[in-house]
Amino acid sequence: MKRIKIAAPVKRNSTRRDKIHQVLTEKRSFLSSQEIHKVLIRQGISIGIATVYRQLESLVQQGRADTIISPKGERLYSNCSQAETHHHHIICRICGAAEELDIPEVEKLSKIFAQHHKYTDVSHSLELFGVCFSCASIQSSSIKSKRKPKLS
Ligand SMILES: [Zn+2]
Ligand SMILES: [Zn+2]
Ligand SMILES: [Zn+2]
Repeated sequence: MKRIKIAAPVKRNSTRRDKIHQVLTEKRSFLSSQEIHKVLIRQGISIGIATVYRQLESLVQQGRADTIISPKGERLYSNCSQAETHHHHIICRICGAAEELDIPEVEKLSKIFAQHHKYTDVSHSLELFGVCFSCASIQSSSIKSKRKPKLS
């Protein structure tokens, strides 16, 4: 028997949300709402920055995206396989590439400190920022090419 695909009626908001989610999935890095907005515009999708921001926030609420604050204080978003569970990241300052980190030592220590200071309902966030391997190799190769040959 042939299967006939019937396109389900999709709400405007959810298609836009899926497009934003798709951008996050393809990029696999932490991006600001402005950067995501630029990608969508380049893809020919007419969407306002405020809508992008709203949809990103609802993706975070749905556990389909993760959000962090960059060292510059900017809110960044990423498609995260573990968005619903507590975890940490290491993020490239240059390209936004990210790895998920589980750090049991941090979880243990935060419990010990909370107990010591008699605090309850304690939460924490920890993100590591650095330069990823591929950005570091691009940087070092561009430095090498800029180096002028020594005159002797
Ligand atoms: Zn994550
Ligand atoms: Zn990088
Ligand atoms: Zn933690």
